[in-house]
Amino acid sequence: MRVVKMKWHAVASWTWDAQDETCGICRMAFDGCCPDCKLPGDDCPLIWGVCNHAFHLHCILKWVNSQTSQAHCPMCRREWQFKG
Ligand SMILES: [Zn+2]
Ligand SMILES: [Zn+2]
Ligand SMILES: [Zn+2]
Repeated sequence: MRVVKMKWHAVASWTWDAQDETCGICRMAFDGCCPDCKLPGDDCPLIWGVCNHAFHLHCILKWVNSQTSQAHCPMCRREWQFKG
């Protein structure tokens, strides 16, 4: 089922293949953009952490910058590292 879903996403324009449908930081949908952006899409990309949680890039950057020490994933509290 998951493979089928990914294939479907591949042809469905830029819909992201995220496990969750909303960003855990801003609570906005992944097919929308973060509160700081006006248009969804490549200008407001999603980014994955090594824990496989996804967030808007802008949201997680703000989150990481707000942490005084090592940032942790807002969803699972594992050490946050950008995937890839
Ligand atoms: Zn967000
Ligand atoms: Zn944004
Ligand atoms: Zn996580």
